[in-house]
Amino acid sequence: MHAALITGKQSVELREFPDPTPALSGVVVDVALCGICGTDIHAWQSGDPYPAAVCGHEWMGVVSAAGADVRSVAEGDRVVVAVPPACGVCTACTAGHATMCTTTLAHATGRHPTAPAHGGFAPSIAVDQKRVLAVAGDLSDVQAAQVEPATVALHAVRRSSLRLGDVAVIQGAGPIGLLTLQIANNGGAGQVIVVEPHSERREMARVLGANVAVHPDDARQVIADATNGLGADIVYECAGLAATVQSAVDLARRGGTMCLIGLASGLATIDPRIWLGKEISVQSALAYTHEEFAMAMAMMADGRLRVEEMHSATVRLEGLSDALAGLSDGTHGWLKVLVDPRSD
Ligand SMILES: [Zn+2]
Ligand SMILES: [Zn+2]
Repeated sequence: MHAALITGKQSVELREFPDPTPALSGVVVDVALCGICGTDIHAWQSGDPYPAAVCGHEWMGVVSAAGADVRSVAEGDRVVVAVPPACGVCTACTAGHATMCTTTLAHATGRHPTAPAHGGFAPSIAVDQKRVLAVAGDLSDVQAAQVEPATVALHAVRRSSLRLGDVAVIQGAGPIGLLTLQIANNGGAGQVIVVEPHSERREMARVLGANVAVHPDDARQVIADATNGLGADIVYECAGLAATVQSAVDLARRGGTMCLIGLASGLATIDPRIWLGKEISVQSALAYTHEEFAMAMAMMADGRLRVEEMHSATVRLEGLSDALAGLSDGTHGWLKVLVDPRSD
């Protein structure tokens, strides 16, 4: 079979791999859809080397083979990619920090010794049974393919100190920002204000429940008006740019919180006088835990988390390169592009 790998700067290669077979406790999943993540776009833009399993980490599909020891799922089950539960034996787990399990993180970042040699931009992928969860309820394939990014947003809001009634600001209305907005609403935010330069994305933010969506140039004034001049209780940074790290803190009130979700590459310039003067709390979030995948799926299944609207296009494996270019230059105004790696 052929899998697409991001092999360098603006380079995608279709490489031949043997058809995967399941380990004793493993499954083979025939991938139906795999989402293109900001990480994939960054890998394609920068040429920075990423573990092969990371590019194409938002997949769903059907179990086509299961090892003899597999109990949690069966052949024919629709599944979504996940990370395993905390291992219980790594240094972090044995020190009592199960949510910071080193093994789970290694799976999330494609660095575990059992990581596949390619991601989900492939017709099939072999993983341990603990790396998949059966699709909840009657989620569509398009919904199920967005469980992974939804879980990123859910993890971030769960880690953050959002309180009932808070004025929450979301910086950046890409897929992660739009998911964070919905989860903050579900988490009891009193008002959600989205800051985003592109008008179509601001419109999507309103559709998905933002009270207000503003251009960055107007953000300070709009947030001041909404908070008697104080600033936001909490700002979720989802733009992932070096410059937006400081602007996130600029939009928070004194004593407020900035939660870093977007991943800026390289160094960011901050003004420590403002951070200190505001007594700002900084939180950050990376990936997720096993349990949070089921939570995100449940919120999607009962309609609290909407992702269908964010689906912009589906392309074939051969179209991945063009899709990455389109997402990179923003010409199409795409949000979430899914890859269907099944051959004709
Ligand atoms: Zn992702
Ligand atoms: Zn562990």
